[in-house]
Amino acid sequence: MSLSTYYHASATEPFPCAPQLTGSIAADVCVVGGGYTGLSTALHLARHGASIALLEASRIGDGASGRNGGQVHNGFRHTSRWFESRLGADFARQIWSLGIEAREHLDWLIRTYNIDAQYRPGLLHLCHKRSYVDAARAHVDEVMSRHPEAGLRFVDLNEARSLVSSDDYYGGYLDSHSAICMRSIWHWGWRAPRANMALNFTSRVRLRACFERRGAGKSTRRPAP
Ligand SMILES: Cc1cc2nc3c(=O)[nH]c(=O)nc-3n(C[C@H](O)[C@H](O)[C@H](O)COP(=O)(O)OP(=O)(O)OC[C@H]3O[C@@H](n4cnc5c(N)ncnc54)[C@H](O)[C@@H]3O)c2cc1C
Repeated sequence: MSLSTYYHASATEPFPCAPQLTGSIAADVCVVGGGYTGLSTALHLARHGASIALLEASRIGDGASGRNGGQVHNGFRHTSRWFESRLGADFARQIWSLGIEAREHLDWLIRTYNIDAQYRPGLLHLCHKRSYVDAARAHVDEVMSRHPEAGLRFVDLNEARSLVSSDDYYGGYLDSHSAICMRSIWHWGWRAPRANMALNFTSRVRLRACFERRGAGKSTRRPAP
């Protein structure tokens, strides 16, 4: 059985493995972990002129970022009503805008770095039990009444079944502004370093506790085995 990630295993061009760290690297910022969090931190700091040493214990994208379902949603697991009842209408609006901004930021990243994300717009949420259908309809009504730009549409039993050629579903909704975004981690991992920035990626370095200050900068040392 292969323990390789789907993204690594299905790559159509070889994923260049970042070199293993030997000795020391000097950098303004040391980022630990080559998943979306680490790569995004490294990329955005480097865009502002910082030099980065990114240390990855395994391979870039070997954690959750290289193994996920690639679903890109506008919102959160909780509805606007949920946020509003607990934290107020202003907060609920702000958190909705944050989701939209994150989504727009992803679009910008894909365009700017020409990332081959195999981006497919539209997500279909289906109910595999008849009893879930009313909740799906109520969800669409609630979201669309608050955020008409959200792009949700209820689909009934016939449409659901024809869309997926299966009789297993009873309805659901289509979210035209969400998407599937496959393989993006794989391309992030190697397009960013080519983008003329001071990004130094390493692999197979598990950080333990090894910072050492040197003058104005900092250096990281390879941890003891
Ligand atoms: C099965 C699954 C499906 C998912 N589906 C979706 C989805 O459809 N849509 C969605 O938005 N989210 C999804 N997620 C969540 C999403 O994948 C994660 O929130 C996201 O990838 C987290 O990114 P990360 O960079 O924080 O962590 P990771 O991608 O896990 O990266 C952490 C990296 O740090 C490295 N590391 C850890 N410790 C050290 C150390 N001491 N030294 C050096 N390196 C270290 C690890 O090797 C790893 O590569 C899913 C998650 C899983 C597990």
